[in-house]
Amino acid sequence: MQASHQNKQFINGTWITAVDGGELPLVNPATEEILGHISFGNEKDAALAIDAAEAAFKTWSKTTPYYRAEILKKAANYLRDNLETIAHDMVLESGKPLLEARGEWTVAANLFEWYAEEGKRAYGRVIPTSRIDKRSSVILQPMGIIGIITAWNFPAYNPARAWAAALAAGCTVVAKPSENTPLSAYHLMEALIHAGLPPGVLNLLIADAAPGGEAMLNDKRLKKISFTGSARVGKILMDGASRTHTKLSLELGGNAPVVIFDDVDVDAIAKAASIARFRNNGQVCVAPQRFYVHKNIYDQFAERLSGYVSQLKVGSGFEEGVNVGPLITARQRDSVFDLLTKSKTERAEVLTGGNRPEHLEKGYFMQPAVVGNLDQSSSLARNEIFGPVLPLFSFDDLDDALAKANDTEYGLAAYAFTDNLKTAIKVSEGLEFGIVGINEWAPHGTELPFGGWKYSGQGHESGSEGLYEYMEKKLISIGIG
Ligand code: NAD
Repeated sequence: MQASHQNKQFINGTWITAVDGGELPLVNPATEEILGHISFGNEKDAALAIDAAEAAFKTWSKTTPYYRAEILKKAANYLRDNLETIAHDMVLESGKPLLEARGEWTVAANLFEWYAEEGKRAYGRVIPTSRIDKRSSVILQPMGIIGIITAWNFPAYNPARAWAAALAAGCTVVAKPSENTPLSAYHLMEALIHAGLPPGVLNLLIADAAPGGEAMLNDKRLKKISFTGSARVGKILMDGASRTHTKLSLELGGNAPVVIFDDVDVDAIAKAASIARFRNNGQVCVAPQRFYVHKNIYDQFAERLSGYVSQLKVGSGFEEGVNVGPLITARQRDSVFDLLTKSKTERAEVLTGGNRPEHLEKGYFMQPAVVGNLDQSSSLARNEIFGPVLPLFSFDDLDDALAKANDTEYGLAAYAFTDNLKTAIKVSEGLEFGIVGINEWAPHGTELPFGGWKYSGQGHESGSEGLYEYMEKKLISIGIG
């Protein structure tokens, strides 16, 4: 694979430097070394990208889904063919373990392939008539130019699910990935270039977030912004969109409860929890966060879990057997340490971890922590932690568990573990979240709708719902009288 991006932006079919010549250092979170400098744009680059997407929409929106599918499938194969190189770069910029990076790129490739096929199934509807002199149908059409802003925690998966769906739907795109993880975005772009994507159809804008985002919001040619990121920035976009009427899809933060009833295999769940909670260092929007454990098994669970968590290996994502890499930035690490420190002033008890690992001098590392003696008012219950801390709580019965689990402004994912069918049904129906996993830790997939309730967002990505986010419905009523 030949790297052609040279850390630039890709606008209207060409790699270009930012209009004002801005640059940003890219830091390896495991070593704190500067990996290089990336070209870093602003609202001027955003305007160029929107111009290009506008011109390209005229032809791309008229292509067949079969034509678009061929390009998406070639891009998927390019990612698969170059898996080792692109996984290596993802580890460099994000710090995640190589195994997780490989898995994420495989899912990104699958998303391109899945939407290639799903685009062919954007069926409309013929509606049986109530009037003999009319015929009515609904067709789906590409929405227009879409701005896609994504977070760093899944540098390939977050962009891929939105890019693939928008392109399959016949939209053109201005894509602004996170400035923390541009290397993966360059690789996604190169896959599409290699696959023959025409100029201007997807434009890669690596730009200063606030002016770039503002330029996208203020330009009426952009029909929607698909945003994956924090609830804080989601709110900024909602406020802005109320002025400009830009449509929004919002995939925001989470604070997922995990309800563990007393009829489960305690050791097996504790072991699995020690892996699930610390995947990607807890920097996962659907990360299992608040663990509610039935009072009968609380002590046993806490002991087993702490044992497993203390054995997790922290280090560089390239190191064999490492479970937990660094946090993405010094700021992110400090915010997790701050939450933990605050919880201690609230009488929390650290059962294991929570320090800087002694064997690692550089890098934004933290020893995975388990924390007990908490109640609902604790900072670790109220905030999205987005780091390697696992807070434990106890509950009395199903009603108590549901009341505590639902006691959050977030509503993305929730989990429950029980061997009792009645309990499983009642808890799955009672949880106020968009995604519920019963007796499993990964309730998501290319073909499954992914979206949050309450503060966690609006709309869906992935699955057929993800495609329809980028299509407008049109009712056509034909008078034949
Ligand atoms: P963030 O909101 O700080 O940044 C996300 C993206 O928005 C980045 O590309 C950033 O550059 C951009 N951005 C920042 N300020 C902006 C502004 N004023 N206008 C427009 N764009 C702006 O979030 P983050 O720290 O990168 O990511 C972590 C958050 O993302 C967590 O809350 C996590 O739960 C959430 N997340 C949600 C999902 C989901 O599917 N629900 C998936 C991944 C991450």
